[in-house]
Amino acid sequence: MDTARLEEFRDELQRLAAQIRAADAQTAAERAPVELDQQAVGRLSRMDALQVQAMAQEASRRRARELRRINAALARMDEGEYGYCLECGEEIAARRLELDPAAPLCIKCASGD
Ligand SMILES: [Zn+2]
Repeated sequence: MDTARLEEFRDELQRLAAQIRAADAQTAAERAPVELDQQAVGRLSRMDALQVQAMAQEASRRRARELRRINAALARMDEGEYGYCLECGEEIAARRLELDPAAPLCIKCASGD
């Protein structure tokens, strides 16, 4: 992979990481502990609040996983190993990286063949 192409993928990975961090910051309030003894809040709406919190926490875990994938891809870039499958060492198809620049495996290894 040539340097210009590599830099495009780096930009894209950094853009994705920034997007994820922004989304996480925006939803921080939803993940905060739910007040348990708020009498103004009825039982149903407390359950709603707990559900919103649970969903927000799951979304946050998903974002954390995605950030780890992105950071791992950026680290591979620094080591000159970006674009090569972690399992078999073959080049990962450019089209696959365009869809998912953090992809650590080639399509063959990812599909378990
Ligand atoms: Zn592979």
